[in-house]
Amino acid sequence: MAVSIEKLEKIYKVKGGADVRALKGISFNLPDTGMVFVLGKSGCGKSTLLNILGGLDCFDGGDVIIDGRSAKGRGAKESDRYRNEYVGFVFQENNLLEKESVKSNVGLALDLQRLKETADKVDAALESVGLKDYADRKCNRLSGGQKQRVAIARAIIKSPKLLLCDEPTGALDSETGEEIFALLKKISRDRLVVVVSHDREAAEVYGDRVIELKDGEIISDSAPQGMAAETDTFTRDGVNGGKKKRAGLRFVRVLRIGSGYIIARPVRMIICLIICLIAFSSVGAADSVYAFDRDRALMYTMENRGALIYEFGKGYYGSENDEIIFNAANISREQADELSSLIKAGRSDCIIEMRDVVPNNMLNVGWDGTEHHVLLTYSAVTGYLETSGSFCRDYGFEILSGRLPENTGEVALPLYLFEFFKAYGYRIYTDDLQASAVSVNDYGDLIGKSLKLNIRKLPELTVTGIIDTRFNYLKQRDKLFNAVSASDGSYTFEDLSSDMYLVGQDCIHSTVFVCDGFDKYYSEIAGHSREDNVLRVIAPFTGSAADKLENIGIYKTQFNNLPVGGNRNVCYTVTNCSSKLINDAGRLAKTINEYAVYGLLVLITIAALFVTYYASGTIDEKSREIGILRALGASRADVIKITVCEHGIFTAAAFAISSVLGLACTAALNASFSQVEGLAVKVLQFGIRQTALIAAVAVGAIVLGVAIPLIRLLKAKPADVMAGR
Ligand code: ADP
Ligand code: MG
Repeated sequence: MAVSIEKLEKIYKVKGGADVRALKGISFNLPDTGMVFVLGKSGCGKSTLLNILGGLDCFDGGDVIIDGRSAKGRGAKESDRYRNEYVGFVFQENNLLEKESVKSNVGLALDLQRLKETADKVDAALESVGLKDYADRKCNRLSGGQKQRVAIARAIIKSPKLLLCDEPTGALDSETGEEIFALLKKISRDRLVVVVSHDREAAEVYGDRVIELKDGEIISDSAPQGMAAETDTFTRDGVNGGKKKRAGLRFVRVLRIGSGYIIARPVRMIICLIICLIAFSSVGAADSVYAFDRDRALMYTMENRGALIYEFGKGYYGSENDEIIFNAANISREQADELSSLIKAGRSDCIIEMRDVVPNNMLNVGWDGTEHHVLLTYSAVTGYLETSGSFCRDYGFEILSGRLPENTGEVALPLYLFEFFKAYGYRIYTDDLQASAVSVNDYGDLIGKSLKLNIRKLPELTVTGIIDTRFNYLKQRDKLFNAVSASDGSYTFEDLSSDMYLVGQDCIHSTVFVCDGFDKYYSEIAGHSREDNVLRVIAPFTGSAADKLENIGIYKTQFNNLPVGGNRNVCYTVTNCSSKLINDAGRLAKTINEYAVYGLLVLITIAALFVTYYASGTIDEKSREIGILRALGASRADVIKITVCEHGIFTAAAFAISSVLGLACTAALNASFSQVEGLAVKVLQFGIRQTALIAAVAVGAIVLGVAIPLIRLLKAKPADVMAGR
């Protein structure tokens, strides 16, 4: 490959100092083959010349003509291709990828040209440098001479027309150095080898021609009439008119180099990963608090609890911040009708409330056997519900035993009441309340018995069946029905009372079921107007999520129609016991939110800074290796691919683990809410939005961290990158 250098000038601009004229207009021609030595003292411009010849650096004046084509107008892509296809480099420091095997280092050069990395070719190249048996050895376990041989094998495997060697023996003892020169001499039989050295002796022994430089000028040339440029075919289309595939790294190689970089500094990587995980997962968790939505939280909680029904009552908006204050207040018949018309569900029914009604059969249930008595006011029987039509099927209730009541003298009991009788016994009603209890073990023990509700004039009702209304509270169930655990001091009587209050809000569990027409019959014997009854409205908790949300959000659109009392806006609202909890959580979330926005910003900033720091650190560190890859012919795209692969793996791992952690975090928060209230609640949601946010923060931070140093690196000339400038 003929090279012609014409009045070549190179000026280094030095910040805050005088410019350095490294090459002062030198000219010479080089033939197609042979071994040319460039001699000279350190700093005379040898490396500069070599780098320009190899397309690793640009020049400021004159020209380099390679096979009749000027290097002047060469763009970055073309430089990459020129290096890749025409030039082999051997440096003083062998510049091998130390952690890779000999085979892999040599194969890389083929790979960069998308040539098939056949074992044969690699073997042949290794054999020609006498390293056939070292193919699988890691490069960091070779001697200096061996490494330099690998570097030569790597340089010649793609059969470059021009082999450029910058002080190839500089780091070797003289004997090993001679072996290397002999090897290069052999290689120069069918290509041009340019060797930069200050070993004058070797130059005289091995060189076909010796050019000596001093201060950027040629002071001697052993064969100045070097052959003029001959014809060859480096064209802008590449070798052989561009028939060859575009050079580039194979994916496997990219993956291997990229992942190798990740584990190169495991401690730092892990520390950064941990910080990312904390930051990213907190971002997700914080956002799930930030995104708290009362209606959704209530819906998910009810779904989570397997709720079968909505219970509606009255609430009111506080005058101060428009938050719903839960209020179990009952509503009139007229309001119940209005409410029913708003509800999106197949049916709705009214529970007629009975206040402070405790069946005489269960009076004076012992709490801890001595002083306290369970407050049954909220929990015994809070109302009655007429069962009509396909009642059980519509609500998803299960008749556990017996049947629904058919006449006004009959009643079916919810499972919750059955559990009470089972735990504390059934008392046969007498005027003497000291009567002893009969034990109840299964449903059959209660069916057929009479229930004497403590309401004047109401005769005893015969129990016809037990209905499961899905009472599924975690804590109360144990405490209420296992008197044993009552001795556990951590659960006080006050705890029980407040829990009972909560249960009372889900009135369905303490409602007795009567036949259609019971209300009319009862009102007559009690002698009061049915209009005076206070009601709760229930409806099946079924249908689409949108319908459910609309039902839960009824308070938003309708409260204005209700009479306003004082400075409160009365509204309809879902009164399922979870709603109080959700309202409380909402208040908490609101408080947190005032700070959450700032917290989120701080977290995101911390995460971004750290990732940026980490990513730019890794890039700086690898710049030398990236420089080597570029010198070997890797294109910018290859470097980007490797970087994307490396950081892609890191980001993907950070993202995946953070998402799981964020999910676990919110699950733990939900669990602690549940623990406190004894309800299965799902106050916080961790979903697509949070996952997407984590992904965005992770990718954003990494891109920010990687992009800037990478762009800088790619813009720089390979010669500078390799030298760490
Ligand atoms: P050699 O390889 O012969 O030792 P170089 O070609 O590396 O010499 O350097 C030639 C001259 O250019 C020296 O004076 C050196 O300090 C200067 N030089 C080389 N690279 C740079 C650079 N990137 N910036 C500034 N000066 C440089
Ligand atoms: Mg040098």
